[in-house]
Amino acid sequence: MVDFNKTNGLIPVIIQDDRTLQVLMLGYMNEEAFEKTRTEGIVTFFSRSKNRLWTKGEESGNFLKVKNIAIDCDQDTILIKAIPENIVCHTGSFSCFGDKETKGFLYELEEKIGQRIDDKVEDSYTYSLYQKGINKVAQKVGEEAVELIIEAKDNNADLFKNEAADLLYHFLILLKAKNFSLQEIEEILLDRNQ
Ligand code: AMP
Ligand code: ZN
Ligand code: ZN
Ligand code: ZN
Repeated sequence: MVDFNKTNGLIPVIIQDDRTLQVLMLGYMNEEAFEKTRTEGIVTFFSRSKNRLWTKGEESGNFLKVKNIAIDCDQDTILIKAIPENIVCHTGSFSCFGDKETKGFLYELEEKIGQRIDDKVEDSYTYSLYQKGINKVAQKVGEEAVELIIEAKDNNADLFKNEAADLLYHFLILLKAKNFSLQEIEEILLDRNQ
């Protein structure tokens, strides 16, 4: 049971993407908002600025479909895992806390690779490979894949893991060279996983 009295009637609610565990936003619920969220399966907050119930998505259509509700150890904070229908933040980023900040290291690496290339950093390996063109980048991905295949036949864990890392890194460069984002690839995998 949530203890609404403990916090003057409003409880903070963390919204997390059910599929990726990305932290998406934080809002507040009073008891009425919490009951509405539970019965409808769509997240409704109590908006402190609007001073009324606010169903996230009521204007934008970007509703949050509830998958799981958890209460913390002392019943004064709620964690909701939800499926966002689209971007969550009204500023246009997916998460209110920023995407790079909430999506983990691979996305940070993607960003760093993008910067090296966009800033044309001359002494960067990433940029020098990129400059050789799509075919060279794609070929490099192929080479790293073959190296990984070779290590897969052996039993050297370190060599295998290093080739796996090489492949992932060059794969990110290829995505950038093709102007695709990791997010787009992730979305395909998420759709397949439904
Ligand atoms: P929505 O609930 O998505 O239809 O958006 C309605 C209004 O709520 C927007 O115009 C914003 O002022 C506000 N809003 C929407 N999403 C957020 C959010 N993630 N965090 C804070 N305010 C939001
Ligand atoms: Zn607590
Ligand atoms: Zn926001
Ligand atoms: Zn390699």
